[in-house]
Amino acid sequence: MLKGKTALVTGSTSGIGLGLAKALAAQGANIVLNGFGDVEGPQAEVAALGVQVAYHAADMRQPAEIADMMAYAASRFGRVDILVNNAGIQHVARIENFAPERWDAIIAINLSSAFHTTRLALPAMQAAGWGRIINLASVHGLVASGEKSAYVAAKHGLVGLTKVTALENAGSGITCNAICPGWVLTPLVQKQVDAKAAELGLSNDAAIKLILSEKEPSRQFTTPEELGALAVFFCSPAGNNVRGVAWNMDGGWVAQ
Ligand code: NAD
Repeated sequence: MLKGKTALVTGSTSGIGLGLAKALAAQGANIVLNGFGDVEGPQAEVAALGVQVAYHAADMRQPAEIADMMAYAASRFGRVDILVNNAGIQHVARIENFAPERWDAIIAINLSSAFHTTRLALPAMQAAGWGRIINLASVHGLVASGEKSAYVAAKHGLVGLTKVTALENAGSGITCNAICPGWVLTPLVQKQVDAKAAELGLSNDAAIKLILSEKEPSRQFTTPEELGALAVFFCSPAGNNVRGVAWNMDGGWVAQ
């Protein structure tokens, strides 16, 4: 379905981003990966799906590096047809104890980077008359939890940016939507599980049970594969007129 298209996924060396990159590659899209840590493993996983895969190491805190990545993607594949703004980090502390540097980093990576990639991707999408922008927000783009001030502010901001991007391009073939997962067991969440286990003296499994029972009625993690299927739907012809939604996949979290 996406053969001949190019998808750039920020923060795709791990977790949800890698899952989304693989779901789009399985539909035939060439992929530009981005993120830190092991690169060869993720590149091989995507290439095994029979598409071309490229990588750029841009740090999402740095607008100049983001511009470099977007120019690289255009020079390698012509243009970015599908932009997935996924890179994100978390930090947990009450506001009075929240380190200002952590606030700045979360706003830069989880929110401002999406503005920069979007402003740089749109002109080529507009010239082509087709594009898909998918923003990985969170249930925390819709509701709050304590001790996550920067994350909740960034994700609410990302849902707002999603709506404006969708509206400004509503007369074209470019759609923009947000995906709002509840808990997904990735390295980002494993850190929170480890912290809970250490704080309360629990086993890994007991900490997971406790975390899921606090907010997620299904008591189940959403998987990167399930989120990938939603991203594929947004890219499909059936998604042509889905514009500016923030679609939660959260085991009932925000239904409460
Ligand atoms: P993860 O830690 O597994 O992956 C994060 C990715 O972002 C990695 O590839 C990492 O290298 C990259 N990254 C981090 N800082 C970066 C930077 N400065 N520049 C470029 N890349 C950077 O996390 P994940 O759980 O897969 O999270 C992916 C997205 O999904 C995030 O936006 C997160 O907020 C969101 N999300 C996650 C969950 C969850 O439960 N895991 C729930 C809701 C939303």
